[in-house]
Amino acid sequence: MIELRTPREIEEMRPAGRFVADVLLAVRAAAEVGVNLLELDEVAHKMIRDRGAESCYIDYHPSFGAMPFGKTLCTSVNDGVLHGLPHDYTLQDGDLLSIDFAASVNGWVSDSAMSFVVGTPDPSRAEADAKLIRTTEVALDAGIAAAQPGKKVGDISAAIAEVAHAAGYSINTDFGGHGVGRTMHGDPHVPNNGRAGRGFPLKPGLVIAVEPWFLETTDEIYTDADGWTLRSADGSRGAHSEHTIAITEDGPLVLTARD
Ligand code: MG
Repeated sequence: MIELRTPREIEEMRPAGRFVADVLLAVRAAAEVGVNLLELDEVAHKMIRDRGAESCYIDYHPSFGAMPFGKTLCTSVNDGVLHGLPHDYTLQDGDLLSIDFAASVNGWVSDSAMSFVVGTPDPSRAEADAKLIRTTEVALDAGIAAAQPGKKVGDISAAIAEVAHAAGYSINTDFGGHGVGRTMHGDPHVPNNGRAGRGFPLKPGLVIAVEPWFLETTDEIYTDADGWTLRSADGSRGAHSEHTIAITEDGPLVLTARD
């Protein structure tokens, strides 16, 4: 079922968006060489406790998950791209880290993700990593720009895909954007590839996560032995950018904006 929010409810969703943005910024600031992924998870966990927020991940147990997620932050490193389960790994110079975080504040969820290179980039990888990360960011901006009232979900999908294809990346549509509200995942699905003018209408009040993610040289993924982390089939790196947005009469409102 697709639920539309009133302008007042969208206002009520702002604190969750701001909180999720703040957590991602704090985790990025903490993500230095020598820091363990479990410490990054603790940064997010402590902020959740201090804020009185609720984690959307810790008890998350969908059909494709082997067991409840058990952590509060997704940390995907290098060939990991989505659903990265924090584990005992110490960040090294040049690691490409994707962090994804969703939490509920006052009963409303927001969901957002970002990718960046830790420490000093490896000269042999710096350009390719920067291009991959930048392309997910440009695709996210393009998808958001297309999220105008009166358009369709397919307009967002097509805008994302155009950016990816222009940069030479293929697209995996197994996972994509989704409705966001009282819970983390709702309808409609917002694929990262599709046809303009098709799909669910973007009505004012619709709140969705838009989340392009691309792999450098493949569109195939597999699940790590940890039961969660999704990795590229060929070992190439991945990147992921995500915002939660509300469709309003005036256009898209980015609830998880990081300023
Ligand atoms: Mg997310």
